[in-house]
Amino acid sequence: MSVSAAVEIFTNNIDASAAAYLDACVHCGQCAQACLFFEATGDVKYTPVWKLEPMRRVYKRHMAPLSGIKKALGLVPDEISEDMLKEWEELLYDSCTLCGRCTIVCPMGIDIAGLVRKSREAMVAAGLVPEGLVGAAERVLAIGSPLGIKPETLAKIVGEQAEEVGIPIDLDKVGADYMIILSAMEVLNFYEVIGALARIFKQAGITWTISTEAYEATNVGIQMGDKKVAATLVQRIVDAAEKLQVKYVVSPECGHAYSALNWEGPNLVGKSYNFKVIHILELLDQLVREGRIKTKSERDHRRVTFHDPCQIVRRGGIVQEPRNLLNMVSDNFIEMENCGTANICCGGGGGVSSNSRAEELRIKSFISKKRQLDAVGPEALVTACGNCRNVLEEALDEFEMDLPVLGLTELVAEYLDD
Ligand code: SF4
Ligand code: SF4
Repeated sequence: MSVSAAVEIFTNNIDASAAAYLDACVHCGQCAQACLFFEATGDVKYTPVWKLEPMRRVYKRHMAPLSGIKKALGLVPDEISEDMLKEWEELLYDSCTLCGRCTIVCPMGIDIAGLVRKSREAMVAAGLVPEGLVGAAERVLAIGSPLGIKPETLAKIVGEQAEEVGIPIDLDKVGADYMIILSAMEVLNFYEVIGALARIFKQAGITWTISTEAYEATNVGIQMGDKKVAATLVQRIVDAAEKLQVKYVVSPECGHAYSALNWEGPNLVGKSYNFKVIHILELLDQLVREGRIKTKSERDHRRVTFHDPCQIVRRGGIVQEPRNLLNMVSDNFIEMENCGTANICCGGGGGVSSNSRAEELRIKSFISKKRQLDAVGPEALVTACGNCRNVLEEALDEFEMDLPVLGLTELVAEYLDD
């Protein structure tokens, strides 16, 4: 492990805005109240701003105004140590989903989630990354999927879905308008979404394809804080989109994939794209508004509520689209308390669900979501992220709650008037 490498990355990552953030905390504790890990445990070590302590120390010791003089007078914190970094590995990876809820409540506007991300980059430099994430990165780089789904497996699953819905699905089709990427969780656990997309796109009359060279939406590099891995994965999608000459890349029901590709991707690969990135919920909402998707007049009567995936809604700005779609197919859609941008994370974002060490804490943190659900008493829970869906299903099982979790795209397809 290299402490000096971590100090170097912390130093590089503390730009003017990060420095302002690190100086601005007034220790009000509001971020703690917003964090599902603090709420579930009551343990002060899970206070969001405490997760930034190694970064704050490096800043105060090496970079803050007058730090040179203060160092000579012994008024700066000690250098971060190996033991400190080892302790913070758990705080930065196991007890933060990068959900950003702390960020929106901070009265000083400190982007705590953003600084956790930057801190993870220093942990990568120190060689302190949970095994689950390291393995996922190795698999996605070598095979193309963090869960090890090979192109031939993808082709088989797509073929089965095409047969199931009776609609051909072209792989690697040059000149299609839309290229769909999928999260490994969807391909493995919720593959019916592929058939749902085929039915919806057939009705809407749009041409689409899936690349066998870049079918994975999940960006493990973003989750672990490894910019090189993140850039490689974005570049893979860019290369495939250019090769297939598509106009749009559609980000699927996966949380961080959208922000990784849409907001961070061009910076990571150092150029703007010659295609547009659109989230599947944006696309579906747009197709409905254009009158290209028609649903049955009979709607779903179950009492349903919506779990907002943090990176799509709070951090991605796609707030109204899922609600428009849900209201189109349901006549009994009830919002949770703190819905939309204030919603509570499923507990498994930001790579936490790939990190087996964090499992116990993740399940424990479901208590916040459970409280939200109990207040609504839904008969079904809808979401728009394969990872959220998987994490929620696991937690509901653990808490012995009998509640089906549905994907929004599949729900729309179920009510399609075709
Ligand atoms: S980003 Fe979410 S999980 Fe991470 S510290 Fe903030 S509130 Fe907690
Ligand atoms: S909410 Fe903001 S100002 Fe208050 S303790 Fe947290 S980081 Fe500091």
